[in-house]
Amino acid sequence: MTGPSPVVAIDGPGGSGKSAIAGALGERLGLLHVDTGAMYRAVACAALERGVPFEEGEGLRRFLGGLDIQYGRGGRLVAIDGKDLTDAIRTPRATRASSVAAGLPSVRRRLVALQRALPGGRPCVMEGRDIGTVVFPDAFCKFFVTAPPEERARRRLAQLRRDGGGGATLEGVLRAQRERDRLDEGRAASPLRRAPDAVAVDTGGIPLGEAVERVAREVAGRARAAGVDLPGPHRP
Ligand code: C5P
Repeated sequence: MTGPSPVVAIDGPGGSGKSAIAGALGERLGLLHVDTGAMYRAVACAALERGVPFEEGEGLRRFLGGLDIQYGRGGRLVAIDGKDLTDAIRTPRATRASSVAAGLPSVRRRLVALQRALPGGRPCVMEGRDIGTVVFPDAFCKFFVTAPPEERARRRLAQLRRDGGGGATLEGVLRAQRERDRLDEGRAASPLRRAPDAVAVDTGGIPLGEAVERVAREVAGRARAAGVDLPGPHRP
């Protein structure tokens, strides 16, 4: 009998704090950090750029079949066919397009295969919407991270302003967020759901450091119980 996968699965909606938690956990425990949202974003960006239709069919099939997706450098770099898309994937247009692309079953099949192969047996922290339910249902440790909608929108607005999106408003961000939640929760293919065995983490009103502490303690306990070896902090 094989044991559970050495994967910390972190799922939740955008702005819940899951990326910050996954990043901090990766650093602290020396785990490869995989941001699967970046992959959906990259595929959407490349499809937009090449005029590929966002619907199942021959055009999408050909596009996905020939796609070379590179993912690496501590979970930050994402490139398609050698073109670095690390910054391009964060625009509001790419954000909207990624939720639409993520509803297409053939896009999900392609990316889930990549996500399963990527760690190559190494322990990792993988964040997304369906990691604990679909990608690694046998992960040794799963979290479902949430926060109240207004708080998620305020965090997203602060990030947009940091990135130079000075014209963004809280109302506009809330509207876009509601639409994205609707697509993520309502799609037929792998909708956003909490896995029954995922630990719920509500980051509303608590400092990020506290959420990271709580998650790190839980991971350490579960790793001991499951016999998973964690590498320890990243060294320069
Ligand atoms: O997490 P992030 O906001 O970067 O994800 C971008 C989009 O990719 C999400 O709105 C969601 O629709 C999709 N996604 C997904 N499954 C994942 C990760 C992201 O459907 N595992």
